[in-house]
Amino acid sequence: MSDSAPSASQLAPKQVAVLGATGSIGQSTLDVLAHLGDRFTAHSLTGHTKLERLARLAQQVRPRFVVATSPELAAAQDWSDLPAGTELRVGRQALLESVTALDVDIVLAAIVGRAGLESTLAAIDAGKRVALANKETLVVAGPLVMERAAESGAELIPVDSEHSAIFQAMQAGRRAELERVVLTASGGPFRHHTPDQLRQVTVEEALRHPTWEMGKKITVDSATMMNKALEIIEARWLFDLSPDQIDVVIHPTSVIHSFVEFTDGSVMAQLSPPDMRLPIQYALTYPERLPSPAARFDWSKGGTFELEPADPDRFPALELGTQVARRGGTAGAVLNAANEAAVTRFLAGSLHFHQIVPACRSVLTHHTFDAHPTLEDLIRLDQWARQEIQTWK
Ligand code: NAD
Ligand code: MG
Repeated sequence: MSDSAPSASQLAPKQVAVLGATGSIGQSTLDVLAHLGDRFTAHSLTGHTKLERLARLAQQVRPRFVVATSPELAAAQDWSDLPAGTELRVGRQALLESVTALDVDIVLAAIVGRAGLESTLAAIDAGKRVALANKETLVVAGPLVMERAAESGAELIPVDSEHSAIFQAMQAGRRAELERVVLTASGGPFRHHTPDQLRQVTVEEALRHPTWEMGKKITVDSATMMNKALEIIEARWLFDLSPDQIDVVIHPTSVIHSFVEFTDGSVMAQLSPPDMRLPIQYALTYPERLPSPAARFDWSKGGTFELEPADPDRFPALELGTQVARRGGTAGAVLNAANEAAVTRFLAGSLHFHQIVPACRSVLTHHTFDAHPTLEDLIRLDQWARQEIQTWK
């Protein structure tokens, strides 16, 4: 035996709790873990619906725990084929235990929507590295989340491709030298639609994103551009930026994932073909870079990088994002809940596509603003905003 430092393969594998394993980010995460081999291992996989899929993933991945967060759905699922060594756990408490377990190193937070808030906060309070896909947590409770991360020493590493790009590009200068960030947006499938055409948009059309394959909620958010509004708010809290330092530019092919501009006018960007496995892997391995399964450029083919200004009249959601990033307080929780409820109604056929953003604006305007809410205040307002959307016509 030599006395040199242990090689990477001799180190204990990092244990990852994959929250939302049955979703789109969950699947990409499991691809990355399979690719990374024995340096990382899945401690637990969680899922809410699609439990057949969760049971199948457990057979492939053989985690220590599989967590079904809905007791009703868990009771209806046949778990008899779980591999030996994988234990089934059920319910909300089981989810929280899987993020706070002492042997968990990294929590990949990929539950969609406000449903991910409690487990993401628990991971932060437990001082874990949190690979954060669940942007809604920062939209709902950004200041509180960042404060609690500072207290516990948790590392928040973005998975959202734009924020991962900013996180990477920021490393080219000092924080005080950063002047502004520019988030890129694909513009979604309806970027050339007239107002009349927008009135006719069907669920099927809204679910067909030109560059990314994602869960339903974020796909609709990308079509309304609410996703970019949420990302403005996410960037504001995650990087402690003033809303005036955050711009958006339309970039239809989603290759440049965002820009950071420094005081000397230098602009740094991160580029790669659209593939979430790259930002996911970086959040797991940071500060290291390892070979990745993500797609690569074929430089021999050349290409162009198309950029267009983001027209505020065409994309009214953007203005809502900036407004909410400026106001802080309860505004993020209300916008997020209104949007979640409006998207659910759109998918169920009881709200038109073009009504989603106006409905959110209306609920936001009518709520009783509080600049310094507690977590309980935010959760109460979340429920209020959802009810408001139910009755919105
Ligand atoms: P998805 O709908 O494909 O998956 C969502 C996951 O959350 C599933 O595993 C589901 O079982 C779980 N879940 C849903 N409701 C739950 C509840 N009440 N309790 C516990 N678990 C619940 O969504 P996705 O596209 O993978 O997105 C996940 C998160 O990542 C979202 O916050 C999204 O904004 C963010 N994100 C996704 C992408 C992408 O490419 N898909 C990119 C950037 C950010
Ligand atoms: Mg994004």
